[in-house]
Formats: sequence, C-alpha cells, structure tokens
Amino acid sequence: MTGGTRAIGTAVALAVMAAGTGCAIGAGKRGGTADPAPPAPSAIRPADPPGRSPGPPGEPGVLPRPGEVGRIPRPPDGLPPVISSIPTRRKVVFLTIDDGWEQDPGFLAQVRDGRIPIAAFVTRDAVEARGATDPTAQGGRFLGAGKWGYVRDLRAAGATIENHTLTHPNMPALGYEGQKAEICGTSRLIRGHTGSAPTLFRPPFGNHNTLTRRAAKACGIDALLLWTATVQPGGKIAYQVPDKRLRPGDVLLLHFRPGLSRDFRVLVGKIRRRGFELGNLHAYLRAATR
Ligand SMILES: [Zn+2]
Repeated sequence: MTGGTRAIGTAVALAVMAAGTGCAIGAGKRGGTADPAPPAPSAIRPADPPGRSPGPPGEPGVLPRPGEVGRIPRPPDGLPPVISSIPTRRKVVFLTIDDGWEQDPGFLAQVRDGRIPIAAFVTRDAVEARGATDPTAQGGRFLGAGKWGYVRDLRAAGATIENHTLTHPNMPALGYEGQKAEICGTSRLIRGHTGSAPTLFRPPFGNHNTLTRRAAKACGIDALLLWTATVQPGGKIAYQVPDKRLRPGDVLLLHFRPGLSRDFRVLVGKIRRRGFELGNLHAYLRAATR
C-alpha cells in the first residue's frame, strides 16, 4: 500500500500494536533504558501566573504546500476514517498528547511561546483528576491536576483540544449507547469549557470497532486519530516500525505526565535535529481529506 491508502490501510494493524503502548495501564515500566529520572514530589508548582496574554492568532506549525499531501480516501461506509499518519513525503511530523493529568505550566509556556502545534486529546477523568491516579505517573506527583482552566489556556496558546472520552474505557467493550455517551459527553464538556467542539477522537488504547465510528459520527467527529510512534519518559521515541526512524507524516503520541516540559524540550530538539518540521495537524488533515 502506498500513498493515500497507507493511513487507512495500516490503521487496523496499528491499532492492535498500539494497544500495548498508548495510554496503557502500567505503561512506562520499561526496564533497562536510560532516563529513569523520577520527578521530585516537591515539583508541585503554583498555578500559571496570571496576566499572560492569550496565544497568538493563526495556526501554529508548518502548513502543507500545494499538492504535497496525498488523499486519505473516505471510507465506503460513510463513517469517519481511522487515520494513523498523514500521507506526505515532506519531513514533517505531528505532535499529539493524551489524557490530561499533568498541568505543567512549563509545557504551556513552551507551546505558547514556541508556537508549537499540538493536538491535546483530553479525558474528563484525567483533567478533573477523578478516581484513581493515573499509573503512568510511575509514582511521581502530577502538577496541578484537576482544572479545566489549564485546558482553556492550552487552547488559547494555539493547541487544539480533542476528544479522548470521559472515563478512558476500552471502547469495544461498550455497546453503541455507551460509546456514544463517552464521546458526546466529552465533546459537550470540551465545547462548554473551551468554546470549540472537537472534531477528532482518539479511542483509549487505540481500540475501536464499527460502533465506535458510528458513535463518533453521531457526536460530530470527523476522524479517529491513532498514532505511529509513542514518546516515553526522557523524550525517547518508541517506534512502531522496524527500522526505528521517524517517517514523513508520523503522528507522535505523548502523555501529560510528570516531567513533561523537560521531556518535551528533548523531544522537539531531537525532531528538529533530524531535519523534521512540526506540522499543523488540522491543516494537513483538511488537505488529505479534501
Ligand atoms: Zn489515554
């Protein structure tokens, strides 16, 4: 499969592979690698200082050149496509970040001041710090969890806020109504808190079925977005391809975890040193699905 069919054609396989890595319970317990660097419990900092102006207007990130982007075909069933990468030959990758426990003011400042394009897929229970602490904290303490104000600030800094469910369930274990309640409920919350309804949905663990796509469509979602590589603590990229290289159009998955601003700085530096640019996801999706 080549060109525009790659994203769709690989989606199912990637969803299976992704199940062990994306937002996975217990993820991050990877023995033997460098950068353990547990965050200090004392790293709790006060809220973002008031008085900073909202983010600059316009869309951050590079935009597609005419003719650069291949087509992602519309599924014949009329439901939202499942996309895991953007069909392009340009050295551009896309940054996404999931859940929302960590509310690190340093990360917010990086996104805003660096005009770094980010799509944040938020889960209600993470943003509101409900229930059990996310095991991906690996024993660390989260910064400032529990407030939608941080999500609003991210939006104002140029990030887009996307849908990652209310409770982070394994979607195929739910029926249609259950899936729809998770997706529509989250879209309503995001719209209420940020003023913009999400157009992208990321199923927890990458797991989805046809009912997920039907429910997503009923909730106003245009596409399910998966990923092609995950970012581990220390900014280390875990590839889901054998040759361990970034590829044009890759979608990278990060998490709102302790140590985020440090890891994010490492990651962005690494991407740029390899000659890749950071793309505006929505602009590329528009070009690919036009
Ligand atoms: Zn997640």
